[in-house]
Amino acid sequence: MKSQDIRLQFLKFFEDKKHSIVPSAPMVLKDDPTLMFVNSGMAPFKEYFLGNAQPKNNRLVDSQKCLRVSGKHNDLEEVGYDTYHHTLFEMLGNWSFGDYFKKEAIAWAWELLTEVYKIDKDILYVTVFEGSDEDKLPMDNEAYDLWKEFVDEDRILKGNKKDNFWEMGDQGPCGPCSEIHVDIRSAEEKAKVSGKSLVNKDHPQVVEIWNLVFMQYNRKANGSLEVLPAKHIDTGMGFERLCMVLQNVQSNYDTDVFTPIIREVETIADKKYGKDEKVDVAIRVICDHVRAVAFSIADGQLPSNTGAGYVIRRILRRAVRYGFTFLDKKEPFIYRLVEVLSKKMGEAFPELKSQKGLIENVIKEEEQSFLRTLDQGLILLNRIVEETEGKIVSGEKAFELYDTYGFPIDLTALILSEKGLKLDEKGFDEELQKQKNRSRAASEMSTDDWVVIKEDAVQEFVGYDTLEAQVKLVRYRKV
Ligand code: ATP
Ligand code: MG
Ligand code: MG
Ligand code: MG
Repeated sequence: MKSQDIRLQFLKFFEDKKHSIVPSAPMVLKDDPTLMFVNSGMAPFKEYFLGNAQPKNNRLVDSQKCLRVSGKHNDLEEVGYDTYHHTLFEMLGNWSFGDYFKKEAIAWAWELLTEVYKIDKDILYVTVFEGSDEDKLPMDNEAYDLWKEFVDEDRILKGNKKDNFWEMGDQGPCGPCSEIHVDIRSAEEKAKVSGKSLVNKDHPQVVEIWNLVFMQYNRKANGSLEVLPAKHIDTGMGFERLCMVLQNVQSNYDTDVFTPIIREVETIADKKYGKDEKVDVAIRVICDHVRAVAFSIADGQLPSNTGAGYVIRRILRRAVRYGFTFLDKKEPFIYRLVEVLSKKMGEAFPELKSQKGLIENVIKEEEQSFLRTLDQGLILLNRIVEETEGKIVSGEKAFELYDTYGFPIDLTALILSEKGLKLDEKGFDEELQKQKNRSRAASEMSTDDWVVIKEDAVQEFVGYDTLEAQVKLVRYRKV
């Protein structure tokens, strides 16, 4: 089944159960000080759950664009290395605002997966909340008993608060959840593990696909819980993961959501996917990141030096770097993938089609300017290598390159190792710490055309507030 049809079937299934289909909300949030990007299906409906607004229909269904690169949900470092975490992904969701509850949510999820999509029951298992002493909450027996109608008891696993209790924040609606996992290991792979082979959640081919959240409590300011008068259902299913299962492949990247983009990279870079792990990681990173960047630009968020724009710039630069290092691409090429992406996704997300020209231009310019930075950095790095006596390049030199030219430190380390040299990493970390202290001390930051943002100041994206504090603007002389 094609991904396009998988999405439509999901929407149609719930439409038949009296849900209204609503389009994805924009992924970039402008008015929410607590969140930069929508990172789950529920974010656009927050006001409904809080009771501040009322939907026209209290049953909705949608496919929401989500981005998980900052704050509580940050999957960026996984992307490319595993085959089922993306930066941008679609979350399919059905919603009940004070209408149906666990009974229907569980029965319909099971019906959709096993009768409509016809997933073999034997590869599915589910989890329920085991309870929490801290919150004086019992196990979610209600969910357990409902699942028992459909699922053998040895396939119902109990999960802790971390995995099976969902909270919006320190306060507000919350409740237990049930996750549905799919075991797509091959028979040989299963045979390798003896005993209770189901409970191998860490295996890369045992994947969570759907999370059903049962919002039945309200967390009060003093931390205690009260039962909500109106209970809600919030579900989220990873669309690309569902496609992986239904298309009988072992990786999201082998579904038709990604293969057309991968083929295009193969052609442009003259490389084959599936032959060399390093190249494969690079191709996955690029195919993932182009989607995140393209969708963000389509939503009006251009790459920039601050906030959400900076996050987008970093994602794109990460892709450029992987292309530069592992695919040998020294000229812009990521913008050329937008064509196939908009062809593939343009029907479901028309903004990709209507903004295609803009997306291409912005990406191309960003690529060009970052590649120039990399070029200048390389010249300097070569000079440093020539001047180095012995085998170790000082942390101070590497830091200068990183600080002034935005030359990524992992690239420096890689190039040095190829030349048989080593980087004094401890020295580099010390310089980085000194600079962090300086930037903390500097209360004001100024910007003008002569200013570039320092690339890779942080290991991972953090929330807007801390990002501002950690990002240091470096004034430099144009060379
Ligand atoms: P995981 O444990 O795999 O990181 P999660 O528990 O963080 O997933 P939820 O917050 O429950 O995910 O989101 C609902 C669904 O969205 C998941 O069941 C999964 O199918 C999908 N999903 C979550 N994160 C990603 C991601 N980074 N890329 C693709 N799909 C994702
Ligand atoms: Mg996660
Ligand atoms: Mg999980
Ligand atoms: Mg989950």
